[in-house]
Amino acid sequence: MKRFANIFCALALLFVFAGCSKGPEQASKATDKPLVITTFFPLYDFAKNVAGDRMRVENLLPAGAGPHEFTFTPKDRQRLENARLLIKNGFGLETFLEDVTLSPDKTLVVEAGKGIAPLELKKKEDHRDEHEHVGGHHHEGGDPHVWLDPVNAMKQVENIRDAMIAVDPANKTVYEANAVRYLDQLRALDEECRREIEGFARKEFVAYHSAFSYFSNRYGLKQVAVFEEVPGKEPSPRSMAGLINTIKKYNVRALFTEPQFSPRIIQTVASDLKLSVLELDPMETGDFEKGSYIGVMKKNLAAFKEAQNKP
Ligand SMILES: [Zn+2]
Repeated sequence: MKRFANIFCALALLFVFAGCSKGPEQASKATDKPLVITTFFPLYDFAKNVAGDRMRVENLLPAGAGPHEFTFTPKDRQRLENARLLIKNGFGLETFLEDVTLSPDKTLVVEAGKGIAPLELKKKEDHRDEHEHVGGHHHEGGDPHVWLDPVNAMKQVENIRDAMIAVDPANKTVYEANAVRYLDQLRALDEECRREIEGFARKEFVAYHSAFSYFSNRYGLKQVAVFEEVPGKEPSPRSMAGLINTIKKYNVRALFTEPQFSPRIIQTVASDLKLSVLELDPMETGDFEKGSYIGVMKKNLAAFKEAQNKP
């Protein structure tokens, strides 16, 4: 028995040493993995799901910052120069990258929204000129909020998979298998949205800013008004009067706040008109505590369900 224990100890020691000698090698292997940088939270989550453990995925925007107000610094440029792959949304969302050129030999730049038919941004006549300046996020290439429709998200995941294969063909089968698994989850989310929304009592809703157009188009909801035509700019007294009329006309029973904007104006209107206040999260701010794209979309669906079924 004692001899057995001794042998066991010797073996254990051997493993410890083997483990130690492996340590630095493994560490250097970890940094050898290609670096992928995504611009904001949904793309980060998509990329993590496809990359698995074969790539390092980092997000450009720090937690709490959204593409509306992000300012690009020389430090950010340095980070991008180290990336093998930069994944952005496209549709004019990433205005902060407009003047950034990266060496095409070092960094592949991919628009995850490639191949998605853009929706026109509804421009209000009296806001036409402001639209180009305030917020800076919605001014070219149609409505950028494609990721909030799970079917479009699937397209984005396929584009991300193809980009990862282009950068690291040796792991092609891994990226393909990971994508298949994640696409199945997105397909289930799509089916859940379809099934739930079909049964909503009311299809009309008023949004904070026009983030859920692709989502409403997909599932038959109707965005009848938005509080901020220009993200970050509160409505004028005239458009406020129009908003209140619309709320009454469609018997809207709840209003939505969004985590990246102040809820003040929504709370005021809601208490005046005796409406409930719920939250929708378009995931523009990259708070990684959020968990997952799918988890947040389920919360959004639950908020819609509660709002649209209120008597
Ligand atoms: Zn937006």
